[in-house]
Amino acid sequence: MNIESKLLEIRKTARGQGKYVMNKLFDDYLTGLITKKKIPSCSFCGTEKNLTKEHVIPKWVFESNPKKFFVSDVNKLDQSYIKATIPLCAKCNSELFNSIERKVQKILSVVDLKKSYYSPDDWLTIIRWLEIIDFKIQVWDLRSEFKKHKDSHYIPMLADLSIAYMRDFSVRTVTTQTRKALKRIATKDKSKRISHLIVGTTKNTSFHYFHTSGDFIFLEIPQYNKIFFYFYEREYKNEKIVSREAMKIIESVYSD
Ligand SMILES: [Zn+2]
Repeated sequence: MNIESKLLEIRKTARGQGKYVMNKLFDDYLTGLITKKKIPSCSFCGTEKNLTKEHVIPKWVFESNPKKFFVSDVNKLDQSYIKATIPLCAKCNSELFNSIERKVQKILSVVDLKKSYYSPDDWLTIIRWLEIIDFKIQVWDLRSEFKKHKDSHYIPMLADLSIAYMRDFSVRTVTTQTRKALKRIATKDKSKRISHLIVGTTKNTSFHYFHTSGDFIFLEIPQYNKIFFYFYEREYKNEKIVSREAMKIIESVYSD
């Protein structure tokens, strides 16, 4: 099967199963009773069979530096990139999401920005891949129970609330955001989004990453000397403004 048929299946699954999957996720982690017994299921199609662990950030992205840690911006718990996983069934993991990743890896290894550029199809595949990462992070956020805040002491009352909930203190904001992330995956037309991806090359040897759910992501992948910055939802008039706004964010993160 080629990449287009995989992408079609991903969109179909997001449209067909999305509502059920989202409702179960919200009920399990946000709105349902804390004492409720949670039945593990695929975070994408909802099946309870053949569950596997899917890495939120693909392993190969940080492979060159597995000691890097990922600090959640809400409760500041150190979370190894490697540990951050969500449940996916074998089919969604290896047949669907993994085929996109293999395609992206191929694109990154072939394209040398000094000599060649990404084709329009490559460009779209990268956008779709970044959208899937955002969705996975949001699911992971929702599923991660708020255990301990580094700057304060352990608050037993809050221990069962998810990180996503703590971020906004509003169930509706969280559910709307996660639904939007899934809707982006279900949407074929990306014509308005293509100017919101910035690419580049890097000489850095360690993996860098930052992300704000539903807003933007920055990935620096030393293995392929490539950088990506993508705005998930903001709409800017032209690429110049997109670059300028992305640079502002990158600079503010690195000056901290
Ligand atoms: Zn599945």
